[in-house]
Amino acid sequence: MSQKRDRWDSASSEEEVRDGDGTTTKYLSATTTNLESQDDTSSSIRTHNPLLSGCRSVYDSYERLDRIDEGTYGIVWKARDLITNEIVALKQIKFESSLRKDGFPISALREIGVLLALNHESIVTVKEMVVGDDFDKVFMAMEFMEMDLQEAMKISGQSPFPQAEVKSMMHQILSATQHIHKKWILHRDLKTSNILVHKSGKICLCDFGLARKYQLPRKAMTQTVITLWYRPIELLFGQSYYGPEVDIWSIGCIFGELLKKEAMMQGQGELDQIDKIFKMIGSPNEEVWPDFASLPNTSILRWKNKESPKIFKAFPVNSFSGGQSYLDPNGFDLLQRLLTLDPKKRISADDALNHAYFREGVEMRIPRFVLE
Ligand code: ADP
Ligand code: MG
Repeated sequence: MSQKRDRWDSASSEEEVRDGDGTTTKYLSATTTNLESQDDTSSSIRTHNPLLSGCRSVYDSYERLDRIDEGTYGIVWKARDLITNEIVALKQIKFESSLRKDGFPISALREIGVLLALNHESIVTVKEMVVGDDFDKVFMAMEFMEMDLQEAMKISGQSPFPQAEVKSMMHQILSATQHIHKKWILHRDLKTSNILVHKSGKICLCDFGLARKYQLPRKAMTQTVITLWYRPIELLFGQSYYGPEVDIWSIGCIFGELLKKEAMMQGQGELDQIDKIFKMIGSPNEEVWPDFASLPNTSILRWKNKESPKIFKAFPVNSFSGGQSYLDPNGFDLLQRLLTLDPKKRISADDALNHAYFREGVEMRIPRFVLE
């Protein structure tokens, strides 16, 4: 154990590893990070990280209950605090067995760093970090939420969420996103399985494993972020100088999904995703997106779409619905502004929260999730 710790504490180099799904995970050999200066291509992170020193032992502090989920970067357990009896979620940081010697995954360091820096009612709270009896057993203890929004939609039956509840969920998602964007952080993986729901109706953003700081002037960042169905059109065309508008596109996709209880554009690959976007929203031209032609992949990628955009039929608008199942005209306008092709014209989180959708029409109401 102490030998392992000695080896663990010694600094060495960063290594990139290609995961099974084609995404790249970086591993650091030192338990260190500096989020401010961190870049996807940076290798200058070398100092000791105090976040992981002095942590309680997971065995002395928690009773493990059920396994909640095994995601891309970690296993999530339900657990009970032995002192306070509080129920928490413990996310175990995943170390690939063949990579143990290579150190602590950078995605986990990012997530811990970002979540500790953020404090918002609609962002999951990290209570503490706890450690196991081996160097690769590190857990993040978070407030426990009943399930994620994707599951909540699955078990809540066929009938749509009432408009008043959709409005409340959108308000909570946009408030949390406004908060992170104000702190110069991009989430880069917003989707319904990364939004947690509490039986009280509160919803929270989680999974900051792909989050990072951004800055002005913009620096190049990797385009292989954001789950395909929620990935904005500019990333699919190779834009690497992107900013908060990438999260806004994902929120547009989430809005559509909340209205239909089904993901809005389910591409089978990048080309199919582009096709689905152009069919749903319309294809770009000089007028709607003047900079489109200058994106890296516009000359390589060809597409054909002459049909009128599906969005009008897919989301029928009705001012007289009493706000139950149909979107009102303000809601439809917001949906279109979130899913605007040109990232420069896409609405910001700030402006979205000031949109008439939240001031007029049916009043928002905290959702009543049936979480059995
Ligand atoms: P990954 O990076 O592996 O996707 P997540 O943080 O998204 O990790 O966690 C995976 C899943 O675990 C989530 O989709 C959610 O279903 C569940 N989960 C995560 N955090 C919590 C929590 N605090 N309370 C309850 N369930 C959670
Ligand atoms: Mg996740």
